Amino acid sequence: MSSWPNVRADFPVLHQQVNGKPLIYLDNAATAQKPRCVIDALVHYYERDNSNVHRGLHALSMRATDAYEGARTRLAKFINAAEPAEIIFTRGTTESINLVAHSFGARLRPGDVILATEMEHHSNLVPWQQIAKSTGATLRYVPVLGVNAEGGLDLTALDTLLTPQVKIFAFTHISNSLGAINPVRELCRRARAVGAVSVVDAAQSIGHGPFDVREIGADFVAFSGHKMCGPTGIGVLYGRSELLNTLGPDETGGGMVSSVDFEGARWKPAPERFEAGTPNIADAIALAKACDYLDGLDRAEIARHDNHLAGLAYEKLSVLPGIRLLGPTGARSGLVSFSFADVHAHDIVTFADEDGIALRGGHHCNQPLMRKLGLTGTTRASFYVYNREEEIDALVASMRRILKFFGAT
Ligand SMILES: *Cc1c(COP(=O)(O)O)cnc(C)c1O
Repeated sequence: MSSWPNVRADFPVLHQQVNGKPLIYLDNAATAQKPRCVIDALVHYYERDNSNVHRGLHALSMRATDAYEGARTRLAKFINAAEPAEIIFTRGTTESINLVAHSFGARLRPGDVILATEMEHHSNLVPWQQIAKSTGATLRYVPVLGVNAEGGLDLTALDTLLTPQVKIFAFTHISNSLGAINPVRELCRRARAVGAVSVVDAAQSIGHGPFDVREIGADFVAFSGHKMCGPTGIGVLYGRSELLNTLGPDETGGGMVSSVDFEGARWKPAPERFEAGTPNIADAIALAKACDYLDGLDRAEIARHDNHLAGLAYEKLSVLPGIRLLGPTGARSGLVSFSFADVHAHDIVTFADEDGIALRGGHHCNQPLMRKLGLTGTTRASFYVYNREEEIDALVASMRRILKFFGAT
């Protein structure tokens, strides 16, 4: 039963056949499809308003500036930031985390500790490794619970790991490879208690339920537009304004300086300080439309819908012979991650594609975690607002066909 009977009509891309079968799109954790209103916002901007922002006094430039800054205000409201200046537009989660790593990481010294978790996406892992190398800081990880507990965070380890030496605690809200949901509010509180700054990777959560940065108590939050029905190439770094204005810029150039002479330059405050050059105006405006769209569906309802489908998928897949289902029971989000001993995830994805089903298989940018769990990868089905219960039956039927082909049943 769908919460929104007509929601599929909003997504033009869904209405096609793949390999002669109706498309079943279950790769939403990699990127979500775009509703018509988001696509229209892009077209409208380029057909009517296209101009550069901030430096123009003519009508189109003022319109573009109003729409771009309006988008910032809309994003601030979407996550309940205290002010629009706390929203920095970036290319996405990866760029947002790199921005914090470079700007905040620059003040780290040998002896300082960066704490991450073993379930981080490479985007929230490699930038910290690089900063640790260049500053002499130490990178430590909160372990993921044992090979058979399948991936909850070991919170008891925090007692010894969260010391006053920790300057940054970076963690994901929802694991993209396990579906585990981390207690972000508690993690932010515990970071604050030792004077560490919290960096929340919200790539998997932002489009799938309510998200309130102040209720969570996060210092920095990174997310991508394309996983929440917005365009690619646009995302957000949220930072508390007191913190943002203590940081230097990552990139320098036009638009971010208050004055320049031949000897040097002075920075504007956030957000301009962190948005050197011409920003991604059109995609920011379309991302604001995606916020309207998701709020229109009701984000609490989205969480219920996605989690319901994932729960149902876990249940229906669990009877397949030899299946290993990942993610901690009880705290899973809207995706299922699984593996079979005898069939490689890439084969499963290739065969499912014959049935018109889009899945993702592999290490999901979580190589160290996969190694720890003794896997080369998993197959992942991830759900969103337009998915339906019937699609899970098709998924299970497709898995049965594949297992039979490989002689695994
Ligand atoms: C997708 C994802 C990222 C990276 O997002 P980009 O849009 O590729 O920058 C980071 N972390 C998690 C948990 C993700 O799912």
